[in-house]
Amino acid sequence: MKLLRHGNIGEEKPGLELADGSRVDVSGFGMDWDSAFFSDPENLTRLEQWISEKSGALPVLDSSVRLGPCVATPGKLICIGLNYSDHAEEAGMDIPAEPIVFFKATSAICGPFDPVMIPKNSEKTDWEVELAFVIGKRANYVSEEDALDHVAGYLLHNDYSERAFQLERGGQWVKGKSCDTFAPLGPYVATPDELGDINDLDMWLTVNGETKQNGSSSKMIFDIPKLVSHLSEFMSLMPGDVISTGTPPGVGMGFQPPQYLQPGDVVELGIAGLGQSRQEVIADER
Ligand code: ZN
Repeated sequence: MKLLRHGNIGEEKPGLELADGSRVDVSGFGMDWDSAFFSDPENLTRLEQWISEKSGALPVLDSSVRLGPCVATPGKLICIGLNYSDHAEEAGMDIPAEPIVFFKATSAICGPFDPVMIPKNSEKTDWEVELAFVIGKRANYVSEEDALDHVAGYLLHNDYSERAFQLERGGQWVKGKSCDTFAPLGPYVATPDELGDINDLDMWLTVNGETKQNGSSSKMIFDIPKLVSHLSEFMSLMPGDVISTGTPPGVGMGFQPPQYLQPGDVVELGIAGLGQSRQEVIADER
């Protein structure tokens, strides 16, 4: 299943992307893609059954319909830093001995085709294509062996970052990661059966049509079972929480000289099996 959400900001309804690429509204099923939905795998079975009973009678969404973030109100948005050996190298940082864990404010979450706003006083807004996943069953002290039982699905994330806020202003990375629109999620959550080997997914990002990132999840230092197990030592991972697993090389900060986003730029990205997203860069005029 490919679970998406559609509609105006704050009024999103659940939908699905079907195998033929068409999108349908499933608000008649009565659940949004939120903590309650992801907490029980039986909900997917019920959804499948409900769809088969509808047999083709679901309302088809016009391609102009806005897509919202594909997970409704995650309780946490946790990120992993420097999780690709080749990205750690370009950032001039050592390969970490343990996963680098940081938070991103959930208010940064937006739809996959919404514009990204350059914050006021920003000169270093940067991109990061990332493989993210959503937690199903609650996880506490989970072994690596059992970790994937707690993952409900996978999604595309652009972990936008303001490098000066992140690295030059002291304190935690969270300041450079949390600006509004800095976390486009989607187009959809793919359930695990939709994907092949999650440790071998191609991922890419372009700016104005020029390739900047071209990597593979095979280059992760700490894989997803390790990350679930590790994080669950320190906190409860709750149904609907989203965890983003780090970015491959090719971020703006890594170029000589560095390249940062300007209003008018267009960022496009994708991961094999998880679709594509696109953000037009605008200034924050609020
Ligand atoms: Zn990141």
